[in-house]
Amino acid sequence: MKRILLIATGGTIASGITEEGLKPVLRPEDILRHLPSVSELCAVECLQLYDLDSTNLGPDHWLGIAKAVEAHYDAYDGFVVLHGTDTMAYTAAALSYLIQNADKPIVLTGAQKPIDTEITDAKRNLYDSFLYAIEDGSFGVSIVFDGHVIAGTRARKIRSKSWNAFSSIDFPDLAVIRGGRVVRYIRDDQPVGNLHFSHELCRKVFVLKLIPGLDAGIFAYLKTRYDALIIESFGVGGIPCYGNDDFMDAIGDWVASGRLLVMTTQVPHEGSDMGVYRVGLRLRETYEVLECYDMTPEATLTKLMWIMGETTDFDEIKRRFYTPIGHDLIEA
Ligand code: ASP
Repeated sequence: MKRILLIATGGTIASGITEEGLKPVLRPEDILRHLPSVSELCAVECLQLYDLDSTNLGPDHWLGIAKAVEAHYDAYDGFVVLHGTDTMAYTAAALSYLIQNADKPIVLTGAQKPIDTEITDAKRNLYDSFLYAIEDGSFGVSIVFDGHVIAGTRARKIRSKSWNAFSSIDFPDLAVIRGGRVVRYIRDDQPVGNLHFSHELCRKVFVLKLIPGLDAGIFAYLKTRYDALIIESFGVGGIPCYGNDDFMDAIGDWVASGRLLVMTTQVPHEGSDMGVYRVGLRLRETYEVLECYDMTPEATLTKLMWIMGETTDFDEIKRRFYTPIGHDLIEA
C-alpha cells in the first residue's frame, strides 16, 4: 500500500462556523475521519503545517510547504496538501518552481464548503486527490478539484462559490477523475533531471493592473519598494499614451535604474503579443522588457520571485523566464 503524507494548511475544507465567521478549526486527522474509505486506498499520515485562511498565506508559507515536502520526500510515495481555494493557484505555481523534477505527486486540494457540512465538495476532492496521488504516472505539482487534475502552473480560481472553482488556463487538464478512475489527457515523461528544491524567493515583485487613465506617477512610488514590475495591460499588450510620453518616460526611468519590467495581459485567455499594436511594439523596441505570452499571472509572479531569489543577472533572469517549466509556457 502506498504511503501518502497529508499536509494541512487550513482553508474552507478545514473550517468551522464561529462567531467570527468561517475559519479553519479542524485538524487533518479530523478531516480524514469524515472519509474512512481513504484507508482502503493508501496509508495516510498527517502533518498540520498551518491552520490559515489562504488569504493569509504567502511566500514564507510556500517555502514552508516546499520544505515540508523536502524533509519527508523519501519517506512517502506522494503528498496531498490541503489548502484554501483563494490563493491555491499561487501556491501551486510557486511549488512548481520551488520543487523541480519531482518524481512523486504533490497534489493540492481544498473545497468550497467545509467537510463537516451536509452538502459539500470536500469529500470528493479529498478522495480524488488520494486517488490521483497513488496512481502510477502521477508526479509533479497539480491541483485536483471537482474531478479535474490541473498542472500547478496553469490553474486559476475562476468561480468564488461553485464546485467547479478552478480552470486550467490555455492548457488541457492533465487528467480528469471519472467514475473513480483517473483518465489522463497528458502523459508526461518521468523527469530526467535531478530533484531540486529551492529555498529563496524574492519578495520585491509587484503586479500593476492598468486601468484607463492611470497616473504614471505610480512608477516613482513603486521604485521605492520593488525591483520588478509585472504590468497587466489591456488586450495583447501595450502602454498608454495620454497625449504625452509620461508612461514611456516612467518606464524608461524604471528600466534605466536596473529594475525589471514584464508585460502581461489582464485578459483571462490567450496571452500577450506585444508585437501587434504600436502601443506595444513601441515599448518593446525602445526598452528591454520581458513578455509573458501565455503564462498565467500566477505563474509569472511566482516564476519571477523564484528566479530573482537566485540571481540578479538580467541575461540569466531572461533565459530562465523563457525556459518552460511544468507546461507554464508554450507560445514564446
Ligand atoms: N477563504 C478560504 C481560503 O482560501 C476559501 C476557501 O478555502 O475556499 O482559505
